Amino acid sequence: MTAKEIKKRLAKKYYSNRCYVCHKKFGKYFAFHHLWYEEDDAIYKNFKNSNAYHVQLERFIKLNPKRFLLLCKAHHHLVEWAASIKDQAKWKRFVKARSLTKT
Ligand SMILES: [Zn+2]
Repeated sequence: MTAKEIKKRLAKKYYSNRCYVCHKKFGKYFAFHHLWYEEDDAIYKNFKNSNAYHVQLERFIKLNPKRFLLLCKAHHHLVEWAASIKDQAKWKRFVKARSLTKT
């Protein structure tokens, strides 16, 4: 089973085949975003290749699909970026900058 086949099957079965944010139809570079990590979780960098990673990831998704979101490449990067902001004051300024933007 290749990573491509596993991803396609999981996207369809658990995530309506769409990016959670923009509803773009599942395709290349989509990712299953962890909402939180658990002990012995599937972490990409710990696997020798994408196939091995996705075999393990599928087990975790089946156990609890709600622990993940299917995201397109752009929204995966944006959600990861947003999550990387740990400074609450900085996050508030970002949200304010967004709300002040009228274009
Ligand atoms: Zn998207």
